Amino acid sequence: KKLGIALVGLGSYSTYQLAPALQDTQHCYLAGIVTGTSSKEKVWANRYGIPKENIYNYSNFDEIASNDTIDVVYVVLPNSMHAEFSIRAAQAGKHVICEKPMAINVAECDEIITACNRAGVKLGMGYRLHSEQYTQAIKEYVANKTFGAINYISADAAYRSMSNPGQWRLNKKLSGGGALMNMGVYAIQSVIYGTGENPISVSAQEFSTRPEYFKETDETITAQFEFQSGAVGSIMTSHNVRANRLFASCQRGWFELDPASTYIPLAGRTSRGELNFTQESQQKLQMDDFAKHILLETPNLAPGEMGRRDMVIVEAIYESISKGGQKIPLNFEAGYGFGG
Ligand code: NAD
Repeated sequence: KKLGIALVGLGSYSTYQLAPALQDTQHCYLAGIVTGTSSKEKVWANRYGIPKENIYNYSNFDEIASNDTIDVVYVVLPNSMHAEFSIRAAQAGKHVICEKPMAINVAECDEIITACNRAGVKLGMGYRLHSEQYTQAIKEYVANKTFGAINYISADAAYRSMSNPGQWRLNKKLSGGGALMNMGVYAIQSVIYGTGENPISVSAQEFSTRPEYFKETDETITAQFEFQSGAVGSIMTSHNVRANRLFASCQRGWFELDPASTYIPLAGRTSRGELNFTQESQQKLQMDDFAKHILLETPNLAPGEMGRRDMVIVEAIYESISKGGQKIPLNFEAGYGFGG
């Protein structure tokens, strides 16, 4: 059986990445769409052969509950809408994939997790990198201590936002925050799977060189992490410069991905030489992995608890900034442990 996926929000990520990737997936297919823009209905129906009864808008979306051809709802909307649509999808009895960042605060992440648990549906994050080989190699180096203990890990996830001041990513109400919410979660993820540990504290700083453009949301943030093992981590995220890298200095060598969190192609090397893995659509791999989790009970590579953990760190970074860079302790005992 192939699971039917409905995409909610037909913006650029759905249009140029997810829908094309769903043409190549083995365990799922594009079965339906949910859109607030009626003109997109016909275009998508024609392009992908989507039947009329599998097309919903934001108001009649809850009727998806009675549609047996839709198994999974994939929420690809602006960040502030993730919670509402993930919860409505769970209440309709559908499994949920939620794009990153999971929501705009930890409280909303908790609401999504509770709704999915209550409904008995699976919840996965749109963290595509867990399904691709460069990231998986990093996790293996860490698990096997291939290069010994990690001394220092650094991760950058940043791009330059040019001349679209009207975009939702710069609108705090819709985005929940700037570079940190958008790209910062990749850097947070990198330092966690790059050390195999959740951090125990964070200190952070923010600065802006274009305040006239970044009126409501953070432009550039740096943060430093402390880990139980003694490792130290550092991240930079920005909407004003381009950088995309993971680097770890270890007891017996080093490993690096650059770029580390873009779409394919990724690239990497270690103190032993170049990495050269097969590169397939990350979105295809991610959606097939989630479908296999549902169909075959394989592990959930990016569960909701992971998205929540990252939001705890995002909130701690903003708290540190508001307190002049003060060190904020992080405690994950009650939440999601490593696994990252
Ligand atoms: P986008 O701006 O291209 O699309 C957003 C969609 O939401 C549009 O179809 C728009 O019509 C709809 N929408 C509904 N209400 C809206 C409102 N009030 N304001 C603006 N748009 C509204 O954005 P995108 O790049 O497709 O991002 C969507 C989500 O996907 C975000 O959460 C983003 O973080 C995530 N994303 C993830 C990746 C990844 O690699 N995992 C990549 C890109 C985007």
